[in-house]
Amino acid sequence: MIVMKFGGTSVADLGAIERLIAIVRAARQAAIQPESPDWRGPVVVVSALGGATDRLLGLAAEAGAGDVEGARENVRALRGRHLEVAAIIGHATERKEVEQFIRDEFDDLDRVVGALGVLREVTPRWLDAIAAKGEILSSRIVAAALTSHGLAASWVDARRAMVTTGDHTSAAPLWKETAAALSANVDPLLAARRIPVVGGFVGATRDGVTTTLGRGGSDYSAAIIGACLGAGEIQIWTDVDGMLTADPRMVENVRLVPHLSFAEASELAYFGAKVLHPATILPAVTKNIPVRILNSSRPQDAVGTLITRERPAGRGPLTAVASKTGVTVVDISSTRMLMAHGFLRRIFEEFERYRTSVDVVTTSEVSVSVTIDDGRRVPEIMAALADVADVTREDHMAIICAVGDGLQTDPAFVTRLLEAVEGVPIRMVSQAAARRNITLVIAERDLAPALARIHQRFFTTEGAS
Ligand code: ADP
Ligand code: ASP
Ligand code: MG
Repeated sequence: MIVMKFGGTSVADLGAIERLIAIVRAARQAAIQPESPDWRGPVVVVSALGGATDRLLGLAAEAGAGDVEGARENVRALRGRHLEVAAIIGHATERKEVEQFIRDEFDDLDRVVGALGVLREVTPRWLDAIAAKGEILSSRIVAAALTSHGLAASWVDARRAMVTTGDHTSAAPLWKETAAALSANVDPLLAARRIPVVGGFVGATRDGVTTTLGRGGSDYSAAIIGACLGAGEIQIWTDVDGMLTADPRMVENVRLVPHLSFAEASELAYFGAKVLHPATILPAVTKNIPVRILNSSRPQDAVGTLITRERPAGRGPLTAVASKTGVTVVDISSTRMLMAHGFLRRIFEEFERYRTSVDVVTTSEVSVSVTIDDGRRVPEIMAALADVADVTREDHMAIICAVGDGLQTDPAFVTRLLEAVEGVPIRMVSQAAARRNITLVIAERDLAPALARIHQRFFTTEGAS
C-alpha cells in the first residue's frame, strides 16, 4: 500500500484536482493488478487548496487586530473558491452535501472572526482551529471528487486520525495513540477496498482539541500515516520534478537529483529545501520506507526523486545545496569564562530555557557563535547571559548548506567550496565529523550570487550530479 500526499498546488483548482484523480486512478489500478503484492489503498493525504493556509492565517490576524470587515472579505473569497472547486463533484446529491459542509465551515469561521474582533487577541489555539479548516475542507472535497469519478473513496477527518501533543501551531505526533486511531478509522476502509482521504497538517489532542503540525506539515502527516500503516512507499506529489540541485527560485539551470539517501534528504530539508518538510524523513527511516517526490503536473514524464536508506552509487561529492534566509547569528564571547567548565552548558541552557533551537555552532578560543531561525526570544537570552559574557546579535543572515554523502571521501571539497565563493564575506563555516554537509553562514544580500557560483562550479563546470 502506498501513501500519496498532494501539496497545495496539486489541489489548487479544478484542473489540478482532475490531474490528482488521474494519478490516484493509476495507483489504484496498479494496486489491484493480480501481481500486486497488496491490493489495498492508496491512502491519499492532501494539503489545503494552494494559498488557503496563508489566507486563513492572514484573516485570523486581521480579525485579531480589529479589522473584522477585512477578515470577513477574506472569508467570503475563500468560501467562493471552495464552492467553485466543489463543482468537480459530478454526483449531484454528494455535491450538495459537500457544498453544505463548506457553507457550515465558513459560517463557523465567520462567527469566530466576529468573536476575535471583540477579543482582539488570537491565541495559538485559535490559529490552529482556523488554519485546520483548509485541510478539513480540501480533503472532504477531494474524497467526494474521487468517489464521483468512480474511485470509491472515504473522507477521514484528520482529527480522528492524527493524535498530537497540545503544542499549538507546532504539535508533535503521539505515536501510540495515532497508530490506534489509524487502525480504528483507516484500516477498516482499506480492508473494504476504499481509498481513505485525510487532510494533512491537522490533528487533535487526546481531548479532541484541534492542532496543527506546523507550516508545510502535510508531508510529515503523510510520513506518520505511512509509518503507522506500514506503507510500502510514501509519495510526495508537488509542483517540481523532485529534489533539485538547488532552490529553483534562487538558482537557474537546476537539475533533478534522481536518488538521495535518507540522511542527505534530512539535511537538505532541514536547511531549507522546502519541497520536503524537515521531519518527513524520520518516520520513513524508522520503518525503512522509501519516499518518492513527484511532479503532479507531469505524472507521465516525471521520474521524480527516490529517497532510500542506501547511499546512491556513482555520483560526484556534492548532491545538492540548500539555503535559508532570515537567520540570526548570536555571538557570545567571554575571555573570562570560555575555558571554564560548564560554560557551554550554561549558554545552551539559556537557549533551551527560551525554547530557541540552535542550527549551526562554531567556537573559537574566546567566543561561541550560533545561528538561530527564530530570533523572537533573543533579547531574553542576551539578558540572561549578560553577566557571564558579551553577547551581540546580527540579523538578515543566510545559511548555505552543501550536502552529499560523497563529501566524506573528498577531503579537498571544502577548499573548492570556499574557492567557489571567494570574495564573499563568510561569517561562519562548519563541517561536522560525519562530513555529510558543509555549512556557510553569510549575509542575506550575498546569498543569490554565492549560490549561483557554487552551483555553476559543482553542477555545471565540474559536471557533478
Ligand atoms: P507543496 O505545496 O507541494 O508542499 P512546497 O511549496 O511546500 O510544495 O514545496 C515545493 C517548492 O519547494 C518548489 O516549488 C520549490 O520552489 C521549493 N524548493 C526549494 N528548494 C528546493 C529544492 N532543492 N528542490 C526542489 N524544490 C525546492
Ligand atoms: N497547508 C499547510 C501549509 O501551507 C500544510 C502543507 O501544505 O503542508 O503550511
Ligand atoms: Mg510543502
